[in-house]
Amino acid sequence: MFGIGLNLAPFDPEKDGSFKGATDCEFRSFIKMKLRGKDTAEAVNSNGSFKGGARMIGRQAEFEFKFILNYLYRIRRGFGKISLILICPLILSSCPKNEDSPPSPEFDAERAFQDIVRMTKTGQRHSGSGGALENVIFIEKTLSEAGVRHFRDTWEENTPAGKITFQNVIARIDGSNSDSFVALGAHYDTKKLDHCPDFTGANDGASGVAILLEIARNLSKKKLKKSVELVFFDGEECLYSYSEKDGLHGSKRYVKNLKDPGRKRRCEAAVIADMLADRKLNAIIPAGCDPFLAAKFIKTAEKLGFSGYFKQGSIQITDDHSPFLKEGIPAVVIIDFDYGTNNLFWHSSGDKIENISVESLSISGKTINSFIKELLL
Ligand SMILES: [Zn+2]
Repeated sequence: MFGIGLNLAPFDPEKDGSFKGATDCEFRSFIKMKLRGKDTAEAVNSNGSFKGGARMIGRQAEFEFKFILNYLYRIRRGFGKISLILICPLILSSCPKNEDSPPSPEFDAERAFQDIVRMTKTGQRHSGSGGALENVIFIEKTLSEAGVRHFRDTWEENTPAGKITFQNVIARIDGSNSDSFVALGAHYDTKKLDHCPDFTGANDGASGVAILLEIARNLSKKKLKKSVELVFFDGEECLYSYSEKDGLHGSKRYVKNLKDPGRKRRCEAAVIADMLADRKLNAIIPAGCDPFLAAKFIKTAEKLGFSGYFKQGSIQITDDHSPFLKEGIPAVVIIDFDYGTNNLFWHSSGDKIENISVESLSISGKTINSFIKELLL
């Protein structure tokens, strides 16, 4: 009955005696291999018994195996039976279905896409607008539902258009090493385009936020070594042109607070996600980004089979990674600055749901999710 939908060797835990006499550790490895199917077949003897060489298969799978392990331990120890038929759907629904798919199935792109749809419903969300506040509330609600603690940083600044109230949302997931953390950021605000009421920033802004929210849902269940701060920046967009008082308000504020002498933990790297759901995904890590992080990210993409979608770019781009670099904190931005023919959808009514895709969001989200985990674990 374990075989249904799992590509497993036939396995009846009540008749199969191959785990009898095994240590708990061997037993656990054996069960893992049984569930993993053909990938680890060579680690199992022809009679089904354990012969070593188990391959670790990841935390999500381990979590799923708890259901099965608890059941099998009960049988092994002669305790009462529980209904395996009842627990099987729980396991089957979350087990990997395709043995050849790349590791990192933890990013639910469909769900993340719905977050983008939700964000764009408020219309423009430039700093200080009602749309911005609605999105802040949505981000906070989503983080709360994921069990991730967070706070809102609200402040006022003089801009070329007068005083504006800005709001960053900062979420934190603690790791076991309290000395350092990684910042993962995206901006939720949109460019203020008065002449373009249909502009909703589905890609420019919302896609990065959706990636962060989905990663928050994922990381909240993990045991991390390092801590991570997920930062939802306000005021990335400038009103006129980037200057000291125009643009990057949220990231400048966040980086300035990192220098607070009372702050004990060190930000050791910053990763920024922006414009990553274009139907024709063609993202870069621009020139000037930290070379170690950039090379590591490209390697992560290669491992997942996504190398065709990301490359190191030769142009420099101003974005929320810039204030980090200015303070000497290693930082990268992953951005697809080639949105529509000649970038025509950028800062226009073309930046809408119809011009982004779940597939692209899945590729960029999975790659950033894996990359962040590599930095944190
Ligand atoms: Zn923009």
